[in-house]
Amino acid sequence: MNYQILKKNFEAHRFHTVYFKTKEEAAGYLKDTLTGEAIGFGGSMTAKEMKLDEVLGEKNEIFWHWLTPGDETRKKAAAASVYILSANGVAETGELVNIDGTGNRLSASLYGPKKVIYLIGNNKIAPDLTEAVKRARQVACTKNAARFGIKTPCVANPDNGCVDCNSPARICNALLILERPCNGMEVELLFIDEELGF
Ligand code: SF4
Repeated sequence: MNYQILKKNFEAHRFHTVYFKTKEEAAGYLKDTLTGEAIGFGGSMTAKEMKLDEVLGEKNEIFWHWLTPGDETRKKAAAASVYILSANGVAETGELVNIDGTGNRLSASLYGPKKVIYLIGNNKIAPDLTEAVKRARQVACTKNAARFGIKTPCVANPDNGCVDCNSPARICNALLILERPCNGMEVELLFIDEELGF
């Protein structure tokens, strides 16, 4: 992970950035900085690997549909003061890429919370936007589909990767490229120099 390039390009785009060597250091930072907040989570393997529900649950109120399934939890997460998610692809040139099936993660990351925090492992970084979108489709989405065990071509024939299917079970319904933080929102990127999530 070349943090100096990431910092330069993302901060030029008005994102705040912080670097951590390990997920434990990043989790400790969040524990120290977030107290008394309502915190919503998007579906994030990285947040799960960091055990953020335990780390942040002591001093904050947590809304995460992976802990309490259902749309009610997704709505509460979107109405929280802080929203935490990861990214499917991150362009070194300063853009974030995410793909959603339900859309709760994308919508909450754009409007509602006063602060949005992205957890970014070194496996998410791509040299430019084209490669970041490609990574999101071919790596993140296919792995997510496999995790759900759904009936899509990418699960049935993983060697073919994403074929931009029309399956009713398709989980890739919306693609978001975030070029700058939306107006009125603080967006912080935690770059963590480990392989995390999909
Ligand atoms: S579009 Fe279809 S084939 Fe491609 S990753 Fe999504 S579910 Fe799989």
